[in-house]
Amino acid sequence: MTTRLFRAHGEFCASHPWEVIVATLTLTACMLTVDRQHPAPPPKPTVRYCAGCLHEAEYNAADLIVMTMIRCLAVLYCYYQFCKLQKLGSKYILGIAGLFTVFSSFIFTSTVLNIFRIDVTDLKDALFFFLLLIDLSKAAMLAQYALNASNQTEVKNNIAKGMSVLGPTITLDTIVETLVIGVGTLSGVHRLEMLSYFACLSVLVNYVVFVTFYPACLSLILELSRTTSIYGKKQCLITKAFKEEDHKSNPVVQRVKLIMSAGLMLVHAHSRWPFREDDVENISPLVVDHHMTLNKTEENVLHGYIMKWVTLSADHIVILILLLALVIKFIFFENKEDFAEQIRASISQKIEYEDKEVQTTRCESDTESLSGKISTTCRDLEECLAIYNNSDLGAVALTDEEVILLVKNKHIAAYQIEKAVDDPERGVMIRRKILGRDGKFSSALADLPYKNYDYKKVMGACCENVIGYMPVPVGYAGPLLLDGEEHYVPMATTEGCLVASTNRGCRALKFSGVSSSLVGDGMTRGPVVRFPSIIRASAAMKWMEIPENFQIIKEQFDSTSRFARLTRILTRIAGRYLFIRFVAKTGDAMGMNMLSKGTEISLKFVQNQFPEMEILSLSGNFCTDKKPAAVNWIEGRGKSVVCEAVVSAKIVSTVLKTTVQALVDVNYSKNMIGSAVAGSIGGFNAHAGNIVTAIFIATGQDPAQNIGSSNCMTLMEPWGEKGEDLYISCTMPSIEIGTIGGGTLLPAQAACLEMLGVRGSNHDNPGENANQLARIVCGLVLAGELSLMSALAAGHLVKSHLRHNRSTTVLPDNNSFNKCIPSNKDNLLVLPCKDNF
Ligand code: NAP
Repeated sequence: MTTRLFRAHGEFCASHPWEVIVATLTLTACMLTVDRQHPAPPPKPTVRYCAGCLHEAEYNAADLIVMTMIRCLAVLYCYYQFCKLQKLGSKYILGIAGLFTVFSSFIFTSTVLNIFRIDVTDLKDALFFFLLLIDLSKAAMLAQYALNASNQTEVKNNIAKGMSVLGPTITLDTIVETLVIGVGTLSGVHRLEMLSYFACLSVLVNYVVFVTFYPACLSLILELSRTTSIYGKKQCLITKAFKEEDHKSNPVVQRVKLIMSAGLMLVHAHSRWPFREDDVENISPLVVDHHMTLNKTEENVLHGYIMKWVTLSADHIVILILLLALVIKFIFFENKEDFAEQIRASISQKIEYEDKEVQTTRCESDTESLSGKISTTCRDLEECLAIYNNSDLGAVALTDEEVILLVKNKHIAAYQIEKAVDDPERGVMIRRKILGRDGKFSSALADLPYKNYDYKKVMGACCENVIGYMPVPVGYAGPLLLDGEEHYVPMATTEGCLVASTNRGCRALKFSGVSSSLVGDGMTRGPVVRFPSIIRASAAMKWMEIPENFQIIKEQFDSTSRFARLTRILTRIAGRYLFIRFVAKTGDAMGMNMLSKGTEISLKFVQNQFPEMEILSLSGNFCTDKKPAAVNWIEGRGKSVVCEAVVSAKIVSTVLKTTVQALVDVNYSKNMIGSAVAGSIGGFNAHAGNIVTAIFIATGQDPAQNIGSSNCMTLMEPWGEKGEDLYISCTMPSIEIGTIGGGTLLPAQAACLEMLGVRGSNHDNPGENANQLARIVCGLVLAGELSLMSALAAGHLVKSHLRHNRSTTVLPDNNSFNKCIPSNKDNLLVLPCKDNF
């Protein structure tokens, strides 16, 4: 109930920031004005802080020492709070917390000054008390919630969520603190009473600002920062992992606080109400005294105030020195690293590069917890279930062991742990614990990283039952000169020499460059349907071939997407089975899901014309997705691209270390005759799959689609008048690729797309990013083919030389050669190593 109330309140503040800020400021201004127009009532006797009568009597040596200590403590505490905030690593949090402090102090000062008509000397103490009681950590927590959002709507939701989590705790804390400190006002010790009043006021002001002005300000600041694209960058500034469960209060502690509050309220009620007569009697002389004091000549009082502030006492000097020392330390020494970090960040922003913190070391601490050696005390199943089913608490309030208990007893589905605990990383960690329970995988899992990964982008999109992520090394090949532009192409692979070899190919193509042409674009989905007879099946087939009918089907298909556009329908009959291949352009997306959606609607429409048609499967393998099939090789699938290049004889001999004749010869015998002998479909190449897969993994493509995408025919011919140069082309009819959707949305993969300038959707010309990526794939395949084929040709030459000269030796024990060749001796990707780069 309270949680919902605070959530609604937080949502209101975050969505109406201007209204809340203006209302708070207006109220503050009103407080000041009203107070001036109507003189404040005489102070209560228990407070006894009148302007002139207090400090002279009380300002003795002991008081000076105690107050100086309190002030130093307050300054130190304030410094400690800011240091803690700074460790969060976010200048935004620091700034927001600073704003919170300044505004709270302002309200506090004005309230104390104008409502209580307090002496400036006393205000000095009040402010120090205020500093001691202000809690910036809660302000920072709410800021963390807000900064964790990626857009303004999320900011509002997160602030509401933060308020729902922090609100009840802070309210209870405020009540308890006010009541506890309030006990001081009953002490009878004049100075202590006065300070206790100040402290109570501090706590209340802090609370009011926190639940009104602060969330509104937070929302407004982030909304205004949209123009400076704070969202993209701020999250990496919060270096400390944001753990929502840290912010939730322990229900046991909450209960204790409630009991304490009730007890304290009793104490207060007993002491204050009803007022004792002797108290009332005591008022008169003080009030009279107070009025007399106020009626003293104002000039004298003013003069006294000024003198007090101008003349520095010993305690002022101590505090001033402390304050200065801390400021100097904070700015000039502790900020050094951050400053350097900021410079680094600004440089890296310039080159649009951001370092992401990822887990690179073995999680030793996990090994024990994974094997279940560390077990914390666990509440029983019933209690855990009650907490889990409580909408205010949920699984967030349970320990990991307790969540595991609920998973084991099937109250939480193992695949839904992240959702249950409302924290993806914690969910992944708990699943690892479950898997490592019997000790079987505990050691292995410790080497599989899982920390510092944005699982929100994975959940419900890229992977299920997540237990971590797989770091794969990423290299780059390039520059690849393609259609007059240079590209540095990221390749994710664990095959040594692959990047080096491809890089050599790029180097060989550096002068001539590669030209590309996109000759086809159409993702496909091929369902299978069945009719009662071949007569009806062929009737349906003919009906779909009529252009007018195709147009109606196309209207149905196109209505399912802003980008998917049906271009063709290819039908094949097999007895009473009909296979319908829907071909569509899919913009920048690879398009499999889009095709499925459009095909489903279109089939329903055809079924209306042929009610006896039975839809057997949306995919009838006539697509054909992720399986070798001639249809993709012949008809094309995804993007169909052709690339060509002419490499001069000089480059062939100096960079590729072979001859044009040898290259043409090997290409003919290996890629043509050899592949024909092997009965290959689409495999008329040396290793297109190597390059395709490495780019696919780096750029977040569906890696299994390397099967069709690697279809390639590499052709080589002698070129030029005398045939001394080399002409090479690669034809790739079925590159299934996209720059939006699926794994392309994950940050690391998106970064690789960014490197190639094809990240996400092309707003000016949808589809152009995916087309460009397909051209780059084909261009790099050509570079890879050139390099490996040269290595093979050179190897062939080396071997024939050896045969002629040293017939007994198999291969030379050449260090530079062998170092580069992986354990597999057949892998003659490159020769020799130093020439690859
Ligand atoms: P998708 O993410 O399912 O769809 C693309 C989305 O992006 C659509 O909502 C589209 O809008 C939107 N979009 C925005 N700008 C676009 C632009 N410029 N061009 C194209 N779309 C744009 O992606 P998909 O490529 O269709 O499917 C990819 C996923 O399918 C991958 O996760 C892959 O692993 C998976 N997959 C599925 C199958 C299968 O059989 N279903 C097979 C292989 C792979 P609209 O809503 O207006 O279309």
